[in-house]
Amino acid sequence: MSLILKRLSGYAPHAASLVYGLVVAFVMVVTPESAAAQDLKVQDIRIGVHAGSTRFVVELNDSVEPRIFGLPDPFRVVIDLPEVDFDLPEERIGDGAGLISKLRYGLFRPGTSRFVLDLASPAKVTKQFILKPDGGKPWRLVLDIAPTTRADFIASMRPSAADTPKPVLAVPIPTTPRQNARPVVVVDAGHGGVDPGAIGVSGVYEKKIALDYAREVVRLLKASGKYEVVMTRNRDIFLPLRERVRISRAAGADLFLSMHANTHPKRSTRGFSVYTLSDRASDKEAAALAALENKSDVIGGVNLGNYSDDVQNILIDFAQAKTNELSVKFARDILVGQVKTSASLLTRPWRSAGFAVLKAPDVPSVLVELGYISNPREERLLVTRKHRQELSAAIVEAVDEYFKTTQSAAL
Ligand SMILES: [Zn+2]
Repeated sequence: MSLILKRLSGYAPHAASLVYGLVVAFVMVVTPESAAAQDLKVQDIRIGVHAGSTRFVVELNDSVEPRIFGLPDPFRVVIDLPEVDFDLPEERIGDGAGLISKLRYGLFRPGTSRFVLDLASPAKVTKQFILKPDGGKPWRLVLDIAPTTRADFIASMRPSAADTPKPVLAVPIPTTPRQNARPVVVVDAGHGGVDPGAIGVSGVYEKKIALDYAREVVRLLKASGKYEVVMTRNRDIFLPLRERVRISRAAGADLFLSMHANTHPKRSTRGFSVYTLSDRASDKEAAALAALENKSDVIGGVNLGNYSDDVQNILIDFAQAKTNELSVKFARDILVGQVKTSASLLTRPWRSAGFAVLKAPDVPSVLVELGYISNPREERLLVTRKHRQELSAAIVEAVDEYFKTTQSAAL
């Protein structure tokens, strides 16, 4: 309610607007999420570098009450706002300036949008204030950041319990185990919200490609009538890795497919590839890719706290051996099927490494890298509707093949 009062104080205090304001307030109480989410806009972001400090400015169409805290290892400043529209003149995800080495923003969970400022070294917020509209400038949230020690960062920027509430699940999970007549396929669009994933040569975000392909695969799976299909996310929202695994297990998944796009320092590198879980990486590049994909929670500004081991420690136990065999079978079904006619394949297109998102012990899981968005030609190809439809159809054909052969083997 304090937010509503603060927002109303921004309007001219004559009777008509007051009445209008009360009506708005009433509507907001009835439907708090949808009404609040549509109003607030971030209109621009600026970073100013000064001697000894860096100023971070967010321009908004209204006042906000931010929640600001720091997370160590790596050092990050996290700024949470109510859900906003990022209505910027241009995308600003990527390079920072001054003490901010990188900047990201996006939806963190329903009702909360987040900025994550990566710091090159420990730094703390020395000043934070809101400026009212003035001289043609809109509302501004201003943060000054100055260098400090690690100990002081941890002491002064520590998140309170309220700063790191449990993530809200994007997909409701049934409390009783499901009895599924049809195989359950969980399709996971990688990254999302405050975690853009890789950024392509022309600025395309991996999170968008992942979601577009996931939606197409889901559409085709549903149209076949053969499967129960669950998406881990169906909007541009952040989802912690272990939530993806949890959604998969809670849905009683028979197969989990995580969709991504890759980058490589060498622009000429291109091709589709499939990854399965292994505690020993098949090669250095697969290990590096897994390390990068596993950083999603750090990138999203999640306080890893007591579950960092859970995310980082990928050991395959006995129970996973059978699951892993099936994951490898699905990877093979993908690569020997139609995919190779609709896409070029990476050299050695099946690889394995310790991907946190693949570690449900009882769900056969693979991660596909649809192609390289660091390759200009492949990036252009990946965003075309034709390629999306063909490649998704080829993947769905591999799902059919997988269930046809595993089910007949089980009889
Ligand atoms: Zn990815």
